[in-house]
Amino acid sequence: MKKNVLIGLLILGVLPGCGKKEEMLEEVTHRDTLPLLPTHPAAFIEINRLDSTIILDIKYATTDNFTGEVLYPEARCFARACMAESLASVSLKARTLGYRLKVFDCYRPQRVQFQMWELAPDTRYVANPNRGSRHNRGTAVDLTLLDSTGTELDMGSGFDEFTERSHRGYAGLSEKQKENRELLTHLMTSTGFTTVTSEWWHYDYFDWESFPLIDVSFDSLEFIELEPVDSIS
Ligand SMILES: [Zn+2]
Repeated sequence: MKKNVLIGLLILGVLPGCGKKEEMLEEVTHRDTLPLLPTHPAAFIEINRLDSTIILDIKYATTDNFTGEVLYPEARCFARACMAESLASVSLKARTLGYRLKVFDCYRPQRVQFQMWELAPDTRYVANPNRGSRHNRGTAVDLTLLDSTGTELDMGSGFDEFTERSHRGYAGLSEKQKENRELLTHLMTSTGFTTVTSEWWHYDYFDWESFPLIDVSFDSLEFIELEPVDSIS
């Protein structure tokens, strides 16, 4: 597809191959500039190329995570093109309300899933690597909201706190914590994402089943992000 045709389709809010979700791409047209765009919905794109205002705090690139080990060589956030577009729309909505997105994890190579499983084989919090995580498909994101001073909103528990306090139905939240979680939930679920019960910070792209598990390093994605990785042997 010619690039100008693709850009035209994006202006209309239609990325070929992306699932239909009317409100999902509605605000793509309001971006100030169109970056270099992926040519296929299964392609990977680095989120900051679409939206430089999204803050990265990629915990698995540090020792500040439940394993205590550095699992990623670099702090980077990649996602399938469809999901990246949706996340950019969520970010725009959040900024309109005076907030910013801060992401903790995006695409995760499947080999890292095996490392995590060895350290914490608990299916409530870590997907069995043989079945894979939706993060391994490039269709999941862990995130929170920052206020206008850059402070994380109080969500009642921290990222990767594997306790009941992180569950969506946890009854011990304050009114403010509930309100903060509801704001993030509303922004995400109205823009093409679905929730899980055990982690307030985790969201899946609604069409995650359309995208297979992969095990490609960030470095390699950097060079093939504008091509559908599934077609690369
Ligand atoms: Zn997650």
